[in-house]
Amino acid sequence: MTSIAPIARIETDIAIVGSGFGGSLTALALRRRGFRVALVERGRHPRFAIGESSTPLANLLLEEISDRYDLPRIRPFSKWGTWQRARPDVAAGLKRGFTFFFHASGERFLDDRSHEKQLLVAASPHDDVGDMHWYRPDFDHALVLEAESEGATYLDETHLERVRVEDGGVVLDGTRKGRSLRLSASFLIDASGPRGFLQQALGLPAAPLDWLPPTQALYTHFEGVERWDRLAVDAETPPYPVDDAALHHVFDGGWMWILRFNNGITSAGVALTDGPASAMRPAEGAPAWDRVLATLPSVRDQFRDARTVHPFVHAPRLAFRSQQVCGSRWALLPSAAGVIDPLLSTGFPLTLLGIARLLDLLEHTSDGPARESALRAYSRATQAELDATEQLVAALYASMADPPLFKRLTLLYFAAASYAESARRLGRPELAPGFLLHAHTRFGPELQGCAASARRTPTGRARDALLARIERAIEPFDVAGLLEPGRRDWYPVLADDLVKNASKLQASVDDIDRLLERSGFVTRKITN
Ligand SMILES: Cc1cc2nc3c(=O)[nH]c(=O)nc-3n(C[C@H](O)[C@H](O)[C@H](O)COP(=O)(O)OP(=O)(O)OC[C@H]3O[C@@H](n4cnc5c(N)ncnc54)[C@H](O)[C@@H]3O)c2cc1C
Repeated sequence: MTSIAPIARIETDIAIVGSGFGGSLTALALRRRGFRVALVERGRHPRFAIGESSTPLANLLLEEISDRYDLPRIRPFSKWGTWQRARPDVAAGLKRGFTFFFHASGERFLDDRSHEKQLLVAASPHDDVGDMHWYRPDFDHALVLEAESEGATYLDETHLERVRVEDGGVVLDGTRKGRSLRLSASFLIDASGPRGFLQQALGLPAAPLDWLPPTQALYTHFEGVERWDRLAVDAETPPYPVDDAALHHVFDGGWMWILRFNNGITSAGVALTDGPASAMRPAEGAPAWDRVLATLPSVRDQFRDARTVHPFVHAPRLAFRSQQVCGSRWALLPSAAGVIDPLLSTGFPLTLLGIARLLDLLEHTSDGPARESALRAYSRATQAELDATEQLVAALYASMADPPLFKRLTLLYFAAASYAESARRLGRPELAPGFLLHAHTRFGPELQGCAASARRTPTGRARDALLARIERAIEPFDVAGLLEPGRRDWYPVLADDLVKNASKLQASVDDIDRLLERSGFVTRKITN
């Protein structure tokens, strides 16, 4: 008698494909609401993953989800200090801000007290409430273990071959460790990243990029990357250590990121438009990396003693958009529906905003018109946020050879992000509708208009008019002193800026004082 391995059949409420932080966090929250959840992963943790740098808004969203779904073991991951105290075993990097240095090809980096070739924007006033770079091999592994211990059925090393969408739900067929598997669920969440599972299995069409130029990326993890502040010692003290940040080296046609973790590993990569990419040939890996460094002599010094600890990854097309975000029985997380560019660390907040919306939708609607309408709203919100991000990032690509304009444009992002974070922390999220305030009746159209002008690479009076328009757009939302010329493009986080601009948040000075204490911004009440 021959023995045939029986098909493993699993019935569940929600199937989630992909166990990055997005899938695992969604699984955890759904378990807390009593849903049966199966979390399917094609690989095995711990594993290399890209997308590492968080932001104040991302951390606030993680905190909000942790509180709403009673996830006290996840909440510490929302701040550097609590993370280090609660989970020192999970590697991370301290991120105190966004550091930009602007380079001319073949020239050493040189700047003076005017800071023309740099932009430093602090994201936190001190380390304890700082942001992080998530070391994804550890972080994603930790979250998947939490999801499992919360009762999610975790199926790693699973190869899904088919999906069938039926009236009552979805049926997934595949194999796991040599055994057939059939998974039935009433709803499917695709958390498998761009060009992921449903894109392939349902043949969903990609959407053309309307604004971004095509870009390629080359990236990996290194050891032995030198700190920039050891190579380029500044006579003045910057608002935060420039390497404890998302460090961006920007040049005409591309940029490089450098993110340091506390385990000696540094994530670094380069994004290139097709022009420079045709000269650098990033598909070749290490030789291409050396060619990029050869054009950036000061950055090359940072990598003089560096060695890779993971093979180079070449992304022939960095950005991706899906035409469709939902069906009657399935939804893509924003991270599966689109990836724009890491330039402003927008992936995490977009993903977390989407997770929060999807959780709400699954909790508060059941099959029928209400769910269909909520899914349509989810789809519209996801696409609109990706649109706004794509428009702004495309404007930044268009101005990489014009640092003053590039810097002004990024302030649109920093103004929107700091305003949204403050409004949410004050319990008034309605003041800051949509990621990048894109749905705000005043800021949204201005963001769009400024980005559209910048993409036309204006010169002369048109460029001056654009710089002035950006300032006017930012002013009513600037709660971080972003328009103070005396700061010379070095922006610390100061309690006073929030206090002075309380009225822009429809708040009193007392409201702001309480917010500052609550969020660990200051340890004692401010006296003016
Ligand atoms: C080069 C680059 C740099 C980035 N940097 C940043 C940054 O600094 N900050 C930021 O906020 N965002 C960044 N992003 C975006 C960020 O990567 C995503 O927002 C984030 O990874 C989303 O996490 P996730 O868990 O939803 O998906 P992912 O991290 O993409 O995880 C998907 C998971 O699904 C699994 N999977 C895939 N296909 C299948 C399948 N068929 N079956 C089962 N499992 C499957 C994968 O193995 C993986 O474990 C970057 C993106 C890129 C491309």
